[in-house]
Amino acid sequence: MLQQTQVKTVIPYFKKFTNKYKSLESLSNVNEKEILKSWEGLGYYRRAKNLLASTKILVRQHNSKLPNTLSELKKLPGIGEYTANALLGLVYDKPTIAIDGNVKRIFARYLNKKESKVNFTKLIELNKKNLFSTGRNADFVEAIMEFGALICKPKNPKCEHCCLNKSCRYLKSTSKIKTNKNKKIKVINYDIFCYLNKKEKQIALTKTNKTSFLKNFNLPLIKKMKNISYHKDWNFLKNYKNSISNQKLNINLYYKFTNSIPATYNWYPLRNNKDFIPSFTKKIFKQVSKLF
Ligand code: SF4
Repeated sequence: MLQQTQVKTVIPYFKKFTNKYKSLESLSNVNEKEILKSWEGLGYYRRAKNLLASTKILVRQHNSKLPNTLSELKKLPGIGEYTANALLGLVYDKPTIAIDGNVKRIFARYLNKKESKVNFTKLIELNKKNLFSTGRNADFVEAIMEFGALICKPKNPKCEHCCLNKSCRYLKSTSKIKTNKNKKIKVINYDIFCYLNKKEKQIALTKTNKTSFLKNFNLPLIKKMKNISYHKDWNFLKNYKNSISNQKLNINLYYKFTNSIPATYNWYPLRNNKDFIPSFTKKIFKQVSKLF
């Protein structure tokens, strides 16, 4: 849940989720629709699908135990190099570090070397004896993540409080490496077209959309803002912005009242919907509900 999502957002979801599914076995018995409903509002729904798929594999093939090798962990859906290393350290207390942006920044600063010039895996392997000298490997994995978030922060590192400040080359250097990469977030323009049933207060959604985000989830018709001829049969409702999966979207929302919809669409009630509806689509519900 914490991947790409802040702790304060996750806490209520985590509590509700772990109250509902108290064991791997109970989680392994649910279907995808049910887990998506529990995940509703958290976004990045692929995580929920992967969690369910991994749980089923763990219960059926691993006797409900997490594998304790990198190669076996990486066979589970959604678990890559980073998560596998974090799990080995946190769960099995193995001497390993999950190398993310925070860890890279700490090492790069300490050596005052550009990240692109450091082979982090080799560096950790060569210094294993020193790095894991306390034997508290799980604590170390956690500590280095916290250290990057709280002390050796992306901007304004707190060098005066840092336990490494006597030997840190970044601090001593007069030509410090640059570590803050300003990633430009591209704004993408979309037109969204909603078929609405006035009498039943319903909206037509389809899972056959080809948009890169929310692929195969319930959405109205979405087009990149290009095809102007499309607009003539539709009424413009409003323009609004939305952020999803590291993308900023500029949306023009259109609608039309109709009873007939393409075969790949289904009607959904705008209120009291019992199906899983992603937050992105729920925002559209909110906008078009004002028309009723
Ligand atoms: S002294 Fe400053 S730059 Fe060096 S590791 Fe500590 S916080 Fe980071």
